[in-house]
Amino acid sequence: MNHDFDVISAARNWRTDAAATATPSDIVTGVYASDVLTLEQLRARLSKPTFKSIQATLERGATLDPSIADTVALAMKTWAMEKGATHYTHWFHPLTGATAEKHDSFVSPDGDGAAIATFSGKELIQAEPDASSFPSGGLRATFEARGYTAWDSSSPAFIMRHANGATLCIPTAFASWTGEALDTKTPLLRSVEALNKAVTPALKLFGASEGTRVGSTLGAEQEYFLIAEEYFYRRPDLVMTGRTLFGAQPPRGQELEDHYFGAIPDRVLSFMTDAETQLYALGIPVKTRHNEVAPGQFEIAPIFEDSNIAADHQQLTMQVLRNTARKYGLVALLHEKPFAGVNGSGKHCNWSMATNKGENLLEPGDTPHENMQFLFFTSAVIKAVDEHQDLLRISVASASNDHRLGANEAPPAIISIFLGSELSEIFDRLESGQGGRGTEAGLLGLGTSVLPPLPRHAGDRNRTSPFAFTGNKFEFRAAGSSQSISFPITVLNTIVADAVTALTAELQAKLEAGGDLNAALADIVKATYSAHKRIVFNGDGYSDEWHQEAEKDRGLLNLRTTLDAVEHLTDEKNAALFAKFGVLSDRELAARQEIMYDIYFKTVNIEGETTEYMARTMILPAAVKYLGDLRAAGAGRAVTAISGEVEAAADALYDAVQSLSEQNAATGGDEVHDKAHHMRDHVLPAMSAVRTAADALEKVVAEQHWPLPTYRQMLFVK
Ligand code: ADP
Ligand code: MG
Repeated sequence: MNHDFDVISAARNWRTDAAATATPSDIVTGVYASDVLTLEQLRARLSKPTFKSIQATLERGATLDPSIADTVALAMKTWAMEKGATHYTHWFHPLTGATAEKHDSFVSPDGDGAAIATFSGKELIQAEPDASSFPSGGLRATFEARGYTAWDSSSPAFIMRHANGATLCIPTAFASWTGEALDTKTPLLRSVEALNKAVTPALKLFGASEGTRVGSTLGAEQEYFLIAEEYFYRRPDLVMTGRTLFGAQPPRGQELEDHYFGAIPDRVLSFMTDAETQLYALGIPVKTRHNEVAPGQFEIAPIFEDSNIAADHQQLTMQVLRNTARKYGLVALLHEKPFAGVNGSGKHCNWSMATNKGENLLEPGDTPHENMQFLFFTSAVIKAVDEHQDLLRISVASASNDHRLGANEAPPAIISIFLGSELSEIFDRLESGQGGRGTEAGLLGLGTSVLPPLPRHAGDRNRTSPFAFTGNKFEFRAAGSSQSISFPITVLNTIVADAVTALTAELQAKLEAGGDLNAALADIVKATYSAHKRIVFNGDGYSDEWHQEAEKDRGLLNLRTTLDAVEHLTDEKNAALFAKFGVLSDRELAARQEIMYDIYFKTVNIEGETTEYMARTMILPAAVKYLGDLRAAGAGRAVTAISGEVEAAADALYDAVQSLSEQNAATGGDEVHDKAHHMRDHVLPAMSAVRTAADALEKVVAEQHWPLPTYRQMLFVK
């Protein structure tokens, strides 16, 4: 039954929210960061010495003084209760890629039949969630299932609100009792420290910076789809797997290119405003919103922040989008590829390095010293990405992102760097020892080379590159829309720390041998670029020629699917790298690999079972019913034939899913690696056969009999 109009009428009654209608000046002066326990809040609530002590931890990375914990906890509790919180939780990032929380009430019996509110320093610093069912990749035997969470004081506590109250959330790291990281935050924090240790000594050599610590900065652009809630609930595939496992292409897709940056529909804009107001309250600096390429697709982007905080904020952004959409009769789909044949969603990670004085180390500057620094660090990034293509690819690998990477709309699975024509020209000139144009001589201060001035915010754009220089930062575009950004940043920080360490050692050696800084640096930049320029590609990353050239002529890796990539996570090179910088131990790395296989296996397994279920219980019965009508009219051969195909394909899919357990029973094997490969090699193709037949059926069965909302409805009825 076509009741698109009912769907829309129902949606017209979307709720508005007082908080969402805050005035502009309310937002700036009252709403922004109002639910965050900021340094200013702490300063007002703590004694001077206590505040100084905690400030040292926050600003200089000093170890937290446990003796102040009780005082800080009391201040936190008071603040949180004023904000309406009745509970607190350690908020952490387990290896599922999502976040986890276990709420405890502030309320405690006082022993005399009444209650008091309590929250101790011990409860602030450490908690023991019953963690036995979080993925540990074998790091934690179930008999010692307890893990613990530990306060990350460098990310501010915040209030999470719901219709009937609020909870104080304390960002924490999550580890096993043996001290191994069971989360995505711990390695990220370690990688920031590795970057700091590697880059600070290099900075000193250039003498252009006032900074004493270095960290990474990150701004993540989030793409997502919105569809009417009713359609969502009528699609078991969306509910169970986040993507449509069936659906014929609509007569119109994104080819008119009328959606991108188009006027935002009223209901969507109301939703966005509401979500943004909540994000502002959480101190998340969302900045940009617009329609994306596909119909029904949108984007939200914040101003960049310190990468640990950005990673926390990114998780909150996804959560707020999901929750808020419901108030407007919408569902936010964060899956990388909710609709086959329609653009998928990514999460571009804009990354740079900055000092604690706010200097961006990838900003081409005005002085020769700044420019040398810029060229040095950019060379290091080029070296890092070339040497560790595999790790970057692995950091974005998932069953869902496989549908996107390498399809003709997202960067290929081959990692390369887009530098842009101006910057490439500078590196090429440096490499060939050629001069630049005329009188701009010496601006770079690189000895005799005559070079054009460095471009500031170079204008050229390329949407097809997985890793693009965009003026004063790199944009890693291969990340998937639903994933945690922690591991991609961890990898970036670590590989760049490695490259900077190596280049700094070379530079120091040259200086100790009596070399001049300019000349030494010119040599190093030139040699590094020569050795690694195969990774630089400014052309069309979607083209077939590039795939040929990248693999055959340049020897770049093309790790097409998740399983091709994940295999390399524990390669000796990678284990040695993570161990060297203390980011992940061998055991922690192996655990992550195991979890990636396991999540892949489970994801495809659920998709396989859902496909079969929908084919048999929804699609075939619809065809049979329609056949009844047709037979009465003496027709129906096409429907009969295609239904037969759907049924045969569903049988084959059943066999593909089942044969795994039979195989395991026969061999006694239950290796997660083999299970994952079975899914990729047998179940995914069998699912796709069911889909092809079912989509053909959709085109011949009368709309009133078709049991699923169609692509036309989901993408265009707003
Ligand atoms: P565009 O990519 O369209 O040019 P912007 O320049 O505004 O857009 O940047 C896109 C994203 O990159 C934003 O989230 C922005 O905050 C972030 N960004 C800008 N500068 C940096 C930086 N130095 N480090 C990390 N992210 C940055
Ligand atoms: Mg973008």
